[in-house]
Amino acid sequence: MDKSKQTLVMKFGGTSVGSSQAMAQAAQIVKDARAEWGRVVVVTSAISGATNSLLESASHAARGDLQPLLDAEKSLLKRHEEISAELVSDPALRARVNQEMAGLIGTFGNLCRAISVLGEATPRAMDAVASLGERLSVRLLAAACQSLGVASQVVESTELVITNNAFMNAHPDFGTTTFATRNRLNPLFEAGIVPIVTGFIGATPEGVITTLGRGGSDYSAAILGAVLPADDVWIWTDVDGVMTADPRMVKNARTLPEISYAEIAELAYYGAKVLHPKTVRPVIEAGIGLRICNTFNPSHPGTRLVANLSAGIPANGEKVIKAVTTIRKQRLVTVEGRGMLGVPGVAARTFAAVASTGTSVPLITQASSEQSICFAVPSESADDVLNALSKVFAIELADNDIDRVWATEDVSIITVVGQGTRNTPGVAGQIFSKLGDIDVNMLAIAHGSSDVSISMVVESVHDANAVRALHELIVK
Ligand code: ASP
Ligand code: MG
Repeated sequence: MDKSKQTLVMKFGGTSVGSSQAMAQAAQIVKDARAEWGRVVVVTSAISGATNSLLESASHAARGDLQPLLDAEKSLLKRHEEISAELVSDPALRARVNQEMAGLIGTFGNLCRAISVLGEATPRAMDAVASLGERLSVRLLAAACQSLGVASQVVESTELVITNNAFMNAHPDFGTTTFATRNRLNPLFEAGIVPIVTGFIGATPEGVITTLGRGGSDYSAAILGAVLPADDVWIWTDVDGVMTADPRMVKNARTLPEISYAEIAELAYYGAKVLHPKTVRPVIEAGIGLRICNTFNPSHPGTRLVANLSAGIPANGEKVIKAVTTIRKQRLVTVEGRGMLGVPGVAARTFAAVASTGTSVPLITQASSEQSICFAVPSESADDVLNALSKVFAIELADNDIDRVWATEDVSIITVVGQGTRNTPGVAGQIFSKLGDIDVNMLAIAHGSSDVSISMVVESVHDANAVRALHELIVK
């Protein structure tokens, strides 16, 4: 296909714009892409660490402690100005960018002081604070691209991505977002301009800033890709694509050239930090390609996401397993009692109680005798979940129909991902005997709901060993 007629959305993550060297590389990548593709849209994250320091400053301010704010104001200004000094050659442009950035950091100070006076950081205020990271970085990246001679312009995604008012985890309205995005970006494309857009941020129809949840810039790129629609979406990060395991845990982890949407959805859900879990759906539904690639190694092909594996699902147990991942700091909650046997509605009430605490559940198992239900929750939510359950089942607990509701110590969920893991005979056997070989006991197993993964829960101390052992099933 002739790329000069096609649209490419490229997203740069925090480390890809986190220093002047990194951002120089990102700007060069934009320039190279623009030489080939007719239309290029760039989405950027905040520089690495910025969102964390913004949000921590706001939380401390709510408790009356302004010191983190004072430190963050200084260091954010310094890091951003260092990058502009290196990358923005034109003095007038640099002065303008620095002034805009200083203005945004001033807003940060004002917001945090207001939060400290109120003694409370509402989700809406947190989003106003969090949005500043991308609003800062987008100006730098646009100026860096302009300095390389790329016609480009800052666009705030509050003008493009229209969401509901679920602050800190807002949901886009695809209808209004389509309309707003095309209206705003098409004239720029016609003028040959590359829009440089803030990731992570949206706005309610009234124009109040929202965010799409932590790590949401990937999702922003997918949303824009879907509504334009783009021909391809490339996520630029700091590793060579999706790996078979976390390389910090497994030395011989390697990049997967290709992974299916279903597989990556499992991986993202189970803790591999390659892609925000919501990123996949808009691009699948729009039938758009997605590629994950490395800003620091741009000639590496990275990982391609595909609807169906080009080689098909392997016929035998060999090579079914693609990747092993883990989520740590979970607890297993068990609701158990002989009086639960055959009583309808216990599961519904259990999960309604869990949902009322705002906790989502990554793994569920139920013994077939119906005498217990067991599920994982993030450790930090376990106390809230236990409280909610003891309220909901107060009568059953008093009558001893439910004997107890309890949680384990911290555990880890290990997930083996690969299309065909359930329907291919022998795969589960290989997994269980690997864990048996290293004497790791499984506290729970779940593999019913997809043919793409099997998850097991192990004590936290064993997680790294278990991941390494299971990884041997991939790298033969
Ligand atoms: N800056 C935001 C965060 O750190 C969004 C992103 O980087 O994707 O969560
Ligand atoms: Mg990210």
